Amino acid sequence: MKVLKFGGTSISCEQNILNVKKIIESIDEPVIVVLSALGGITDQLITTANMASVGDNEYEEELSKITARHLNLIEGVISCSQLCAVEVQNKVVHLLNELLNILKGVYLIKDLSIKTSDAIVSYGERISSLILSYVIKEAKLFDSRKFIKTEKHFNKHIVDFELTNWLIKNTFVPLPKISLVPGFISSDKETNEVTNLGRGGSDYTASILTAALDASVLEIWTDVDGFMTADPKAISSTYVIEHLTFNEAIELCNYGAKLIYPPTIYPVYHKNIPIRILNTFNPNTSGTYISNEQNSTVSGKSLIKGISSIDDTCLVTVQGLGMIGIIGINYRIFKTLADNDISVFMISQASSENNTSFAVRNADADLAVKALKEEFALELEQGEISDIKAEKELATVAIVGENMKRTPGIAGKLFGTLGRAGISVIACAQGASETNISFVIKLQFLRKALNSIHDSFFLSEYKVLNLFIIGVGTVGGKLLEQIRIQQITLMEQNSLNLRVVGIANSKKCLFCKEGLNLDTCISELKENGEDNSPNHLRKEILKLNIFNSVFVDCTASKDIAGLYASLLKNNISVVAANKIATSSKYNDYLNLKETARQRDIKFLFETNVGAGLPIINTINNLINSGDRILRMEAVLSGTLNFIFNTLSAEIPFSKAIRMAEEAHYSEPDPRIDLSGSDVIRKLVILTREAGYKVEQEDVRTNLFIPKKYFESSLDDFWKNIKELDAEFETMRQQVASEKKRIRLVAKMEKGKCEIGLQKVDNHHPFYELEGSNNIIMISTKRYNDYPMIIKGYGAGDDVTAAGIFADIISIANIR
Ligand code: ADP
Ligand code: ASP
Ligand code: MG
Repeated sequence: MKVLKFGGTSISCEQNILNVKKIIESIDEPVIVVLSALGGITDQLITTANMASVGDNEYEEELSKITARHLNLIEGVISCSQLCAVEVQNKVVHLLNELLNILKGVYLIKDLSIKTSDAIVSYGERISSLILSYVIKEAKLFDSRKFIKTEKHFNKHIVDFELTNWLIKNTFVPLPKISLVPGFISSDKETNEVTNLGRGGSDYTASILTAALDASVLEIWTDVDGFMTADPKAISSTYVIEHLTFNEAIELCNYGAKLIYPPTIYPVYHKNIPIRILNTFNPNTSGTYISNEQNSTVSGKSLIKGISSIDDTCLVTVQGLGMIGIIGINYRIFKTLADNDISVFMISQASSENNTSFAVRNADADLAVKALKEEFALELEQGEISDIKAEKELATVAIVGENMKRTPGIAGKLFGTLGRAGISVIACAQGASETNISFVIKLQFLRKALNSIHDSFFLSEYKVLNLFIIGVGTVGGKLLEQIRIQQITLMEQNSLNLRVVGIANSKKCLFCKEGLNLDTCISELKENGEDNSPNHLRKEILKLNIFNSVFVDCTASKDIAGLYASLLKNNISVVAANKIATSSKYNDYLNLKETARQRDIKFLFETNVGAGLPIINTINNLINSGDRILRMEAVLSGTLNFIFNTLSAEIPFSKAIRMAEEAHYSEPDPRIDLSGSDVIRKLVILTREAGYKVEQEDVRTNLFIPKKYFESSLDDFWKNIKELDAEFETMRQQVASEKKRIRLVAKMEKGKCEIGLQKVDNHHPFYELEGSNNIIMISTKRYNDYPMIIKGYGAGDDVTAAGIFADIISIANIR
């Protein structure tokens, strides 16, 4: 014989009820079926009662919705032509009339006692089980008020197990093939008035029956495939836990996993009867098996089994130097709470003993503080206790698993993960049983905490990186395209899920926590994007508060570069193609790097110099391995190189510039390249990365285009620059006659920087440098006589995007 419990989620509509019928009728052995109210009805009954109790006559409207829902359901599940449809309708209407009369009474006297409220909510289960007894015709309907008996204990109804077990044993003889029992409801053993077992209590009803009748198993049928590694409604990467020990199930449920009502575990645990969690909507999966067997299955190998959380958390702290070493303070705190019927779900005391913190539900917080202030009035007056305060808007998270026992490093891993995600822990506790570590954080960080911990402890199918790509024009657009093409391969071959969660151009921005569709996001940005500004961007990104986030800056904007500091401080990695931040004031550059280092996140900018060429990474690797960069000589402007390589008798200087612009080699504003500013920035960045302190003003420049061409507007620049065509043609002819070529060379010698035009002959490594290519020669302590040379495309949207992509992937690899 087994006991099956179907929750409100399993019987919320006509189709679901027919599913349930099918499951029940397919079982060969005798079954006891425990039923909840239709999904959402208990909440609705409570709302209706509260409305009536404050004199809001809309309660009648609310009740008619409840009535309509039940009557429509009867119509759907029992054919109207049947006599029994009329019969069940009459019975249900009779019950609902009874309910209406009670509500009328509440409305008139504007008072809702616990007794009346218990009576009102009982109708949910009474009606649902009545309807099901007509759907499953061979089933026999029982009234659980007759055998689940409670007694009052501190305002709560506690099951009288002796009496209840005895009554159950006498009720189910002989045992029908299918018995139907309303869950949740019970009655007081003295007065016989209706009581209940608490919200979610149908699970408990089923467990009590299972234990009393020594059933072989308790099956809890719900709307998920089993006990998941975390609440699937809170995060998406969860998966089903195949097996849990009773202990693990208790820990997970006590900490808010709503799946099973916590007291449910005890009756079956004492009888050593297993529980199986199954999905009404996917009945062929094996679900989760809960038993006292130690972990043996695959899922048993992970260090923790599950994560659960309570979002309704308030932390009350009693503190004062006068508490140190005084015996009995904690006794008085917890006695006061017990006397006031306040339940505490986490306690933390520092070993200095000068404060004790404990977590309670928000609704209990004010009463807790008031009661404690009364209890410790004297100590507060004398200053021995300095304060008793409640901090609200918090959440409690617990990681649970028997494998945590005596396994070192789990707390380290947990808190390291939270630290990297930028989440600070307000209080924490680990019991000596070592099967649960719980901690309190700000509520706003709950989702991020669950995701980060899940990502860190469970071998999820994919590692997720959440990208905000800013500047989706040329380079950013190419990057989006590369990600789109590579997304599936990265998932399949690297188990990496690159999710683009936000994009922006200078005017609009678009966000989607679950990931944007890369086929359509650009057009969606244009059509449905929100108005953008750097500040709006920052606010939205911080508000989204997503774990493993990377801000990818493909703009050349100073304002966007100005966001890095605050993003890094919020543990968002930054990948920048934009050189403004790294070439700005040395201290700002250093601060950004330092913030990233302290937060254990990344600030990467490989594409600041030489597009996708591995220059900065190489310099970093040389230095990290103990080498010292002595000298660097480089052609770093792909644009200028392209221009000098393109000049010919047919192509004058001004046209060559235009061609560089059209080929997207130049910065959006080519004056930045021609004035040498871009090369100065790059040289400054390289020099800094090579370990020297330098500012842009320290770079000696030999300008080759007079300043006045850069001082007017961009339009004027395009008009005026033609004036230099003749001069450049003369220079080109002269250099050609010497069999040399012109290069804009950037040099660094022991921290001293300069840039200028240089003629190079055909023996010089810079002579053969096609198109927009870049080249850098790095002389170090180790690479001295023969410098290291890196050469290749140094500009272009495709290679720059690829360089950014590589930075992003490198973040994924270290996470
Ligand atoms: P029922 O109506 O069947 O009693 P509940 O709503 O009480 O259903 O419980 C099922 C819900 O529990 C799921 O829909 C899910 O959102 C929630 N839940 C919370 N934590 C977990 C978890 N760790 N695994 C599975 N479900 C969970
Ligand atoms: N219907 C009750 C509730 O919603 C009991 C249950 O569903 O288990 O709390
Ligand atoms: Mg439930």
